[in-house]
Amino acid sequence: MKYPREWIDSVRERSDIVELIGSYVTLRRAGSNYTGLCPFHSERTPSFTVFPDTQSFFCFGCEAGGDAFTFVMRSENLEYPEAVEFLAKRAGLEVPEDEEYRAQYERTERLYALCKDAARWFRKQLLADCGREARDYIVKR
Ligand code: ZN
Repeated sequence: MKYPREWIDSVRERSDIVELIGSYVTLRRAGSNYTGLCPFHSERTPSFTVFPDTQSFFCFGCEAGGDAFTFVMRSENLEYPEAVEFLAKRAGLEVPEDEEYRAQYERTERLYALCKDAARWFRKQLLADCGREARDYIVKR
């Protein structure tokens, strides 16, 4: 996968499927769901349904279905990573540039975790009995 999973998840969280599909299809509320004319096949009575609870859609006419990413892939004729980018831009999220960006992100995270560990270790040493000298030294300074 081209992008970090966490990033893709945040794109998904920021993309409300009702709002997204509503910008392509006129949706009408039907109970807790929404219905409209299917954008993937021609029909006169709406069999296209959007489910806010599961953030998914399904057409009872042509059986097209999926999530926000699938919808964008089909509507905009995009591959999966491009659909993710499309929704990220739509949600105002920054798109990670490439593998290098990702590697750097992970390095920074690891370094940060390492620093926290180191800080914890030093504090433990200072509080321990054998750290008295060090403690005295610090106090005298
Ligand atoms: Zn359909």
